[in-house]
Amino acid sequence: MAPIEKRVVKNLSKKMARLLPRGTMALLKKIGALADQNNCSAFVVGGLVRDLVMGRRNMDLDIVVEGDGMRFAGVLAKKLGGSLVVHRRFGTASVYTPEALKIDIATARKELYEAPAALPTVEFSSLKNDLIRRDFTINAMAVSLNSANFGQLIDFFGGERDLGLGRIKVLHDSSFIDDPTRIFRAVRFEQRFGFRIDAHTEDLLKRAVSREMFDRTEKQRIRDELVLILKEPDPLKGLRRMDSLHELAFIHPAIRFSRRMEALFKSIGDCTAWYRNSTLGGRAIDGWLLYLMALVDDLGYNELHSLCGKFVFSNRDRLRLLAFKKIYKRAVAVIGKKSVRPHRIFALLEPLPYEVILAIMAKAPSQEVRSKIEEFFTRYHRTRLEINGRDLKAIGLEPGPGFKKILDKVLYRKVDGYLKSKADELVYAKKLIR
Ligand code: ATP
Repeated sequence: MAPIEKRVVKNLSKKMARLLPRGTMALLKKIGALADQNNCSAFVVGGLVRDLVMGRRNMDLDIVVEGDGMRFAGVLAKKLGGSLVVHRRFGTASVYTPEALKIDIATARKELYEAPAALPTVEFSSLKNDLIRRDFTINAMAVSLNSANFGQLIDFFGGERDLGLGRIKVLHDSSFIDDPTRIFRAVRFEQRFGFRIDAHTEDLLKRAVSREMFDRTEKQRIRDELVLILKEPDPLKGLRRMDSLHELAFIHPAIRFSRRMEALFKSIGDCTAWYRNSTLGGRAIDGWLLYLMALVDDLGYNELHSLCGKFVFSNRDRLRLLAFKKIYKRAVAVIGKKSVRPHRIFALLEPLPYEVILAIMAKAPSQEVRSKIEEFFTRYHRTRLEINGRDLKAIGLEPGPGFKKILDKVLYRKVDGYLKSKADELVYAKKLIR
């Protein structure tokens, strides 16, 4: 598919002033002025430009510099009184402003075969080389920052037209083979904006999915994209679409989309909403991890273990995923018992991460189990004793392994609602010691 050579130029500066915070706008102007002084051209690219055209807010400052981007990043950091992090491996740099804004800077390199002034497009030729490597037409637009043409939209590949048509389209036929993470990105943008992957792109995507290309890609990049789909406001939509494009098998061959999985996704949405609206909601939870638990719910423990290795999930994420797999059955058996006392639920749930508890709640087979978990969260979760080891020593108990046993027993008694004060706790501890 040949790229459209024409670049559409229009000025977005008014829209920028309306949509961007004043500080960001001032920063972009500063970057443009600094580019003027340093004899280079600077552009903002990617998601921010796409969202500007759509009239949406976006705070990601991705800058491309025609010239020496790394040197420019150094000069910018100094000018702003900020700090600089250079990523040598990627030839990019990040500048952090004193207001903690992050600006990513990349260099658009001129290709050797480009004869200067040979083509009318040469003015932007190195920018074009940068943009053509991007994933979709809608993400391959730039806005000029230099003062002479501040705010000009540069669109070589029909990104603006595709935004208008609601179309996700790759820039060339081998796009998904070059970078399979785009398989997930296509779905993410399609679902987020209510767009449609264009027919030819969908064809290319399906062909790429059916090839065994997983091993050629850095797994953590695929993982990151999967996590981003699960972080979207309605991940179920993304999941359904991934299923229709045969992307689930790409994650693991045993993953099948089913009514049950759909119901679990919905229930997770309800439980996380309940959690966030409750007085507990202050502690942030990784909602995406709960959706991932649902996605891998049909896998066995060992399959999940190897999937965690394949996607190089962090130790913390791996432990939470596996903990849910391991504990779910036992948890519902204990909590589901008719006459179970609160302390048994407490002993089981209190040590678990919130994500695991909420996943148990979401998957629970009955409303009764769910209500008991709600009760755990709202009534006796975080129950702590007022007495401690020193108090036990003061009443004559020798320090040793018995300490913890006694303190636990007192705590469980308190959870069951029998001890209301420190004095009650002491009396009960004494009774246990005797
Ligand atoms: P979001 O709103 O989700 O942050 P974004 O487009 O800003 O969307 P990023 O992942 O931050 O997404 O990427 C920034 C830009 O980098 C994209 O707009 C795109 O131009 C380019 N890009 C990111 N990932 C890829 C990729 N896998 N292949 C090609 N270009 C990519």
